[in-house]
Amino acid sequence: LLIYYNGEFVPKGKATVSIYDHGFLYGDGVFEGIRAYNGRVFKLDEHVDRLYDSAKAIALEVPLTKAEMTEAILETLRKNNLTDAYIRPIVTRGIGDLGLDPRKCPIPSIYIISQEWGAMYGDLYEVGLKAITVGIRRNAPDALSPNIKSLNYLNNILAKIEANAKGGDEAIFLDQNGFVSEGSGDNIFVIKNGKIYTPPTINNLKGITRATAIELLEERGYEVVVQNLGLFDMYTADEIFVTGTAAEAAPITLLDGRKIGDGSVGPITKAAVAAFEEVTGTIGTP
Ligand code: PLP
Repeated sequence: LLIYYNGEFVPKGKATVSIYDHGFLYGDGVFEGIRAYNGRVFKLDEHVDRLYDSAKAIALEVPLTKAEMTEAILETLRKNNLTDAYIRPIVTRGIGDLGLDPRKCPIPSIYIISQEWGAMYGDLYEVGLKAITVGIRRNAPDALSPNIKSLNYLNNILAKIEANAKGGDEAIFLDQNGFVSEGSGDNIFVIKNGKIYTPPTINNLKGITRATAIELLEERGYEVVVQNLGLFDMYTADEIFVTGTAAEAAPITLLDGRKIGDGSVGPITKAAVAAFEEVTGTIGTP
């Protein structure tokens, strides 16, 4: 496997990160998670746009044009002969000294890692995930915005640890005001009486799969309402599913020990999963 690093391709075993890279020292950088299906990269322009928006938000200038970044991603797949893959572009502030000062990092580091990709949740697509609402809150939009896909994922990791410790497969974040935010790596959809609800993206990542799900469901005649949601809406939902590049659309059938609906995967969730299967040619697997 070859890893892209600042314009060069390095074998996986030799690909290393400097201990002075501020991405390593301080989480000072941004990233994306992208999928390729059957030789086509899914929503590549959207992911490249979000990578550059994340970089802009942390005042990090990516030393490639978007077209060059797109080409670097495609070249990484070609070099590795990958057609069904997960792709992880990372841009960090670069190598500096031990201090925080970003001005001491003259050249941003760009890494692109790709690998073959298998099912994220395996047979959980059939039975649904157990989710836990975690005590740790999602970053506030006025601080480190959850819209930035930054290398600071400690918030998400602590959420995952908490959910796993309580027997959950996935964590559900509330925001600082108690509104439903998102999962540790996916956005949330709630279904009640045939209507689909999802929170606005002020308090969560502007998920590309979320946007795709809204589009696919509306095309199929479902009404999608973007509005703030509370825990009550989750507990009393008929169905809940989450969306993300890794998860695609995945059902949640148990939340904080409460069955969602009758505890089985509901019809609108099945329609969402099937819609992704249609556009990607696969569910969760290459
Ligand atoms: N929320 C968080 C925190 C994520 O890390 C991700 C994954 O990228 C998502 C949501 C889903 O976003 P997308 O559908 O663009 O992959």
